[in-house]
Amino acid sequence: MGVPIRADLAAIPDYNIPATAPDAVLLNSNEGPLPPPPSVVAAIARAAVEGHRYPQWFSDTLVSRLAADLAVPEPWIGVGCGSVSLCRDLIQAACGPGDEVLCAWRSFDAYPAFARAAGVRVRTVPLDAEHRHDLEAMLDAVTPATRVVFVCNPNNPTGTVVRSRELHDFLERLPDRVLVVLDEAYREFVTDPDVPDGIALSRARRNVAVLRTFSKAYGLAGVRIGYCVAPPAVVSALHKVAVPFAVSRLAQAAALAALDHPAEVRARCAAVVRERDRLHTRLLEAGYPVPPSQANFLWLPVGERATEFADFCARHGVLVRAFPGDGIRVTVGLPEENDAFLCAAAQAFPPNGRRPAASVDIMVAPGRS
Ligand code: PMP
Repeated sequence: MGVPIRADLAAIPDYNIPATAPDAVLLNSNEGPLPPPPSVVAAIARAAVEGHRYPQWFSDTLVSRLAADLAVPEPWIGVGCGSVSLCRDLIQAACGPGDEVLCAWRSFDAYPAFARAAGVRVRTVPLDAEHRHDLEAMLDAVTPATRVVFVCNPNNPTGTVVRSRELHDFLERLPDRVLVVLDEAYREFVTDPDVPDGIALSRARRNVAVLRTFSKAYGLAGVRIGYCVAPPAVVSALHKVAVPFAVSRLAQAAALAALDHPAEVRARCAAVVRERDRLHTRLLEAGYPVPPSQANFLWLPVGERATEFADFCARHGVLVRAFPGDGIRVTVGLPEENDAFLCAAAQAFPPNGRRPAASVDIMVAPGRS
């Protein structure tokens, strides 16, 4: 007989590990398309020289820097090993046996997975017909056991947003014993002025935590660092449940250096946004009913054909993320990478029947290793 493992873990699906291939165009993980700027790489290398020393326990230097940049007091900021670890820590900090987590579906798949792993019940509320959070239905789904509600804004994987008025109403009507986690991993790609700034909302209330990350706009997905802005009591609780020293010295140095280049980050995000809007237009023209996205990815609701579609793209050198039975999420890459995807998508299943001439070549972006 093996060691006893919690029986309920069997019900948690294995994490869908993104595929990778040596020469493929990687549009399946919502990463930034460019490597970090050389000065950030240099800061990581400098930090490595002191690799024999543990990092700062609470990332104090980075917290001070973020506090100054965001105009938020230091006790309101907690740093984690990627914002995904903060999702888990928030559940652990707020929920105990018998409690519930509420989230939209589809949304970021880590929310239900972490809740279940913590032995916490999950309620999911379907997105509306426009692939947006249905905040009314989410309010109706709140029970006396609800402790945490995730609102992913923009939503992964659909790219849709909730706007100021509806979020304000939602927060007004929600019992303030419920912690609202506004996950703003893609905030830097938002161009709609009516999408609220979660940090301002958090500062004005006692029950809102905001998650941000260096993985997307700052191009540091492989370095693993993100942060939470929340009332000090929530941040203190995060500190209690966090894995000690989970945020490496290298990650802290990288984030600090990345914050020195706001103009570069803005320019990179603007380039992604331009490509996002071009891809969106082209996909609509091809007949795919793609909802408007405010993130660095687009959602193709191809339903039952999702897996087949992703396999087709993979055979043509482009990796996208399939959500079986539901749709495809494609990350916005460099222009030539997006062209490679558009070529594959045009030949895959043109929903409007306007299949392009058979001579269309599939282009695989050069130089991707
Ligand atoms: N939240 C959302 C909505 C995400 O899509 C992701 C990354 N896929 C994360 C959080 C986690 O990002 P990281 O851990 O890299 O900061």
